[in-house]
Amino acid sequence: MSLYRGSVLALGATLFAVLAGTIVFGEAQRERYSLPLNCAPGEDCFVQKYVDVDADEGIADHMCGRMTSPEHTGTDFRIPPGASADVLAVADGTVRRVRDGQADRTFVGPLAVPDGVGCGNGLAIEHADGTESLYCHLERGSLRVAQGDTVARGDPVGHVGASGLTEFRHVHLALRRDGRDIDPFTGHARGRAACDVPGSALWTDEAAEALAAAEGPHVLALGFHDRPVTIPAIEDAATVGSVTARSDALVAWGLAIAVEAGDVLSLTADGPGLSVDETHLVDRPQAQTMRFVGRRMREGVPLGTYRVALSVSRNGEVMASRDATLTIR
Ligand SMILES: [Zn+2]
Repeated sequence: MSLYRGSVLALGATLFAVLAGTIVFGEAQRERYSLPLNCAPGEDCFVQKYVDVDADEGIADHMCGRMTSPEHTGTDFRIPPGASADVLAVADGTVRRVRDGQADRTFVGPLAVPDGVGCGNGLAIEHADGTESLYCHLERGSLRVAQGDTVARGDPVGHVGASGLTEFRHVHLALRRDGRDIDPFTGHARGRAACDVPGSALWTDEAAEALAAAEGPHVLALGFHDRPVTIPAIEDAATVGSVTARSDALVAWGLAIAVEAGDVLSLTADGPGLSVDETHLVDRPQAQTMRFVGRRMREGVPLGTYRVALSVSRNGEVMASRDATLTIR
């Protein structure tokens, strides 16, 4: 607490309520949360959105970045297209509510779910300190718990899906206490403290360490298709055609997340009859961005192995990179 008393005094009375709230909660009794997925952040899952801490019309995550959306109440843990992961209880508790049976697919275009089911399939767990953890967008039919069940930290409760209002496969984890959404990265109630007010994370040490190591841009996915693809098409893998020797084009694509203005994205693709690259200077912060390079191949795609690589550089340093290969037989 002494660490941020200085900022409270400096910023005056408006922040007193935040400080008082924190004292009432009490550091000793406050629950600590582990990750809501069995995954390694930065490798096979990624924080795509944080809580929107901006109380006004703008958006801001707790680091004053833009990795959030207006009024976003939780933290979105995203998995790459086509991947799957168990959703885990973030602490010991009792299941208070469950919902299943909602369609499980990412939406494209106008929002097409009934009011009140934006969360899709999900559940709420009440913890010993009275905080509730809410998990949204689970795969239909994957819930393994029922109302009233007791769960332990780390217990699998379902699978990551794309039910409710979501453009990508992820679990939305929200923490709610006394009717307020709490940002697990600071412990502050949403909208009650500006993004530059230091707080105290509610993660377990292990989760905090993994999350800190995974900050920054990432290459979420990359591959080849026979035409340019969209992010929704990548998420909904069934709608994307695959490349064969008879395809008349070969398009390499890569999807990067959490890029900042000034970052340089470099996409290269090579193989028999193909050697193309593209460099792109990012002009504004973007939660996700897709790049393409490719070529028409009117005689079909030559047999052999093709390689695609995408890197994200910041101030001349490579922050993230991945590559993948495709063999046409
Ligand atoms: Zn969310």
